[in-house]
Amino acid sequence: MNISKSEQLFQRAQSSIPGGVNSPVRAFKSVGGNPIFLKSAKGAYLYDVDGNRYIDYINSWGPMILGHAFAPVVAAIQQKALDSTSFGAPTELEVEMAELVKSMAPNVDLIRMVSSGTEACMSALRLARGFTGRNKFIKFEGCYHGHADSFLVKAGSGVATFNIQTVPGVTGGVSNDTLTCAYNDQDAVRQLFAENKGEIAAIIIEPVAGNMGCILPQEGFVEGLRRICTEEGALLIFDEVMTGFRLAPGGAQERLKVDADLVTYGKVIGAGMPVGAFGGRREIMEKIAPLGAVYQAGTLSGNPLAMVAGYTLLQHLKANPRIYTELEEKGNYLKAGLQRVLEASGTPFVINHMGSMISVHFSDHPVTDFATAASANNALFNKFFHAMLDRGVYLPPSAYESWFLSHALTQEDLDATINAAEESLKEIV
Ligand code: PMP
Repeated sequence: MNISKSEQLFQRAQSSIPGGVNSPVRAFKSVGGNPIFLKSAKGAYLYDVDGNRYIDYINSWGPMILGHAFAPVVAAIQQKALDSTSFGAPTELEVEMAELVKSMAPNVDLIRMVSSGTEACMSALRLARGFTGRNKFIKFEGCYHGHADSFLVKAGSGVATFNIQTVPGVTGGVSNDTLTCAYNDQDAVRQLFAENKGEIAAIIIEPVAGNMGCILPQEGFVEGLRRICTEEGALLIFDEVMTGFRLAPGGAQERLKVDADLVTYGKVIGAGMPVGAFGGRREIMEKIAPLGAVYQAGTLSGNPLAMVAGYTLLQHLKANPRIYTELEEKGNYLKAGLQRVLEASGTPFVINHMGSMISVHFSDHPVTDFATAASANNALFNKFFHAMLDRGVYLPPSAYESWFLSHALTQEDLDATINAAEESLKEIV
């Protein structure tokens, strides 16, 4: 595969962009080698600057649930741009967007738009603190909730990939209020509440985790958190930046049948434009300015191009529920195929999967939290990543990331992926 233009661009990028990338997860630092520079994408395929084609399992880290350059979204953005790209004043489209989200997502009385998942989680946490009058909160090791200071403690995604134990610049004053324990460990959560009686504002969780590979909540875990929060007067925040509008029209709340007090969105809600959102029960959301004193704002919040992209995509998803059934079938098919070739290879493995989120861990034990994800053979994953890339399949460049399926994937694409996995395993095991 010729990647000479990518290599040239990466050399050039490093003299003006830190590490040559605008987000660290794009670097191939942990898998080795240099990142591929992309030129365009359509449906399930990415095209790099050298003209190579890849089947995409990153999908911009989640947003492109219907594949790239989905025609109605592209057309809506083009049309909307003619009316100006930003007003900084209210528009009808924002009302329509809020109403559409409310019609799909459970437990959202009021919703505020922001411009990223980071902003959504940061604002939801501030609101939970403002509402309860408590400072501490619980997050789970290996979960990632964006790069706001409070969340960069035992975080997943790039923080785990690059093995950053403490993030310089995050003060002890801030991180002391971040309590952590293992995902799926309800007893540890109870213990933290017992040790910090009346001090914990919220639990924030990825209800299906995607930032330490894909990790599923064990039976009763999220239900248990719901019970504990209710008993302790703390809020349950679902970070649905990955799972929202992906695992079901109503996200993980619908899929797991557990109610959150606050929920954050990103990725799919913006169809690839910079969008995040947080919402929840009216009495909590009414504490946000201008109704309340919990201040939160944004020059570009509710931006018309971002809103029209998200609105068009969500409306399409709402009108076509079969998309979710078909995504489910694609996920099941891929899982079965990967299972077959992995078993044949003789290497120990675990596949974690729900709907259109999936990941392969080269592990001989179940992967249920960050420690078990970290003790898998991630050096083998790194080889697998490159072997797949060489065969035209673009996986996340880290074992600590979920793969995302798009609805644009065809049977042929899935078969090609399974064949590539079979050949890759023969090469690397
Ligand atoms: N929460 C979760 C669960 C995420 O996966 C991410 C991003 N991968 C974020 C929050 C942060 O979103 P953003 O990158 O848009 O700030």
